[in-house]
Amino acid sequence: MIKTDVLVIGAGPAGLFAVHQLGIIGLKAEVVDNLDKIGGQCIELYPDKPIYDIPAISECTGESLTKNLLEQVKPFKTNFHLNERVQEISKDKKNWKIVTNKNKIFISPNIIIAGGVGSFEPRKFPVEDAVKFENNGVYYSIKDKNYFKNKKICIFGGGDSALDWAIELSKFAEVILIHRRNEFRGSDNSSKTVTKLEKEGKLKIKTPFQINSIEGQDKLNAITIKTENGKTEKITTDCILGFFGLIMKLGPIVDWGLNLDKKHIPVNTENFQTNKEGIFAIGDICTYPGKLKLILSGFHEAALAARACFKIARPNEKYKFEFSTTSKNMQERLGINKK
Ligand SMILES: Cc1cc2nc3c(=O)[nH]c(=O)nc-3n(C[C@H](O)[C@H](O)[C@H](O)COP(=O)(O)OP(=O)(O)OC[C@H]3O[C@@H](n4cnc5c(N)ncnc54)[C@H](O)[C@@H]3O)c2cc1C
Repeated sequence: MIKTDVLVIGAGPAGLFAVHQLGIIGLKAEVVDNLDKIGGQCIELYPDKPIYDIPAISECTGESLTKNLLEQVKPFKTNFHLNERVQEISKDKKNWKIVTNKNKIFISPNIIIAGGVGSFEPRKFPVEDAVKFENNGVYYSIKDKNYFKNKKICIFGGGDSALDWAIELSKFAEVILIHRRNEFRGSDNSSKTVTKLEKEGKLKIKTPFQINSIEGQDKLNAITIKTENGKTEKITTDCILGFFGLIMKLGPIVDWGLNLDKKHIPVNTENFQTNKEGIFAIGDICTYPGKLKLILSGFHEAALAARACFKIARPNEKYKFEFSTTSKNMQERLGINKK
């Protein structure tokens, strides 16, 4: 069980800046995100795309913005619980009890929901037994590429993730790249590289094929694939990786008893609190008259929600407004030793 001042749901730009705003006023945060990496939409949907409307930064990319936000929260040594979805929220005396899909439990007086458009979930293999072997032969992301060393791997998909991982894993594993069309959707460069690697005998390509079945008792040991006209082929393999893109689902948030307006959470713009005391919503997931779904709005919302969290986490202390330029406390928390 992990106790914290604030549990932040979502490691997108709004959640990351909330960690900073909480940190400088002396509150500890833990962050949970369903994705395998930090950065939300910026990193998952447009890491290389330029962004031109972050205050005081004339141009950055989704990736560089994420890197800078992470650098800014470094002094607070925050724990990020990735690949984990917040599943349930319930009242536990004066606190909230938060349970993830991996049964991790957090106890916190405050929750900041920075869940964007909901949790990103990988599109899964549409065959029986894919669930049974999930994380034991069937994978949708790679946490540690070394795990796949010297294994026989079938990679499904035609986008950049499938191509890039096929190229990378072919350096030390036996890779078969399988796609339902003859043409790949990924970048020209990656498509050319996989074709070149196939010619050099460093990986195999099978198109147009889709998965048909998964075989194995305790362990996956083979699959069958099929063409559109039903021709099947059996392949022995240690594991299969599916890169079919992501679906965005509001997910379990709908079951937490919060007021919802379509797929958004209405908030009080004084402090970004929802209809439940101690539960705040910021960034793309919150709504109020005039809401702009921009990163800069999420930053402002994070600053106000953080101050409101202070009042709940430290009921016996008075919150004192300070500037970071002059506050010794803030500078100490940021590790800045100015005399
Ligand atoms: C192509 C594109 C270009 C854009 N360009 C710009 C731009 O130029 N300028 C600009 O200001 N904005 C831009 N945006 C919008 C901007 O990316 C969003 O406003 C911003 O990402 C919202 O940040 P967020 O932190 O609220 O949510 P997100 O970035 O969506 O992050 C939310 C995170 O919460 C996680 N999550 C959700 N539910 C759960 C749960 N139950 N458990 C665990 N984790 C959960 C998700 O996995 C996700 O990682 C663009 C968006 C797109 C798609």
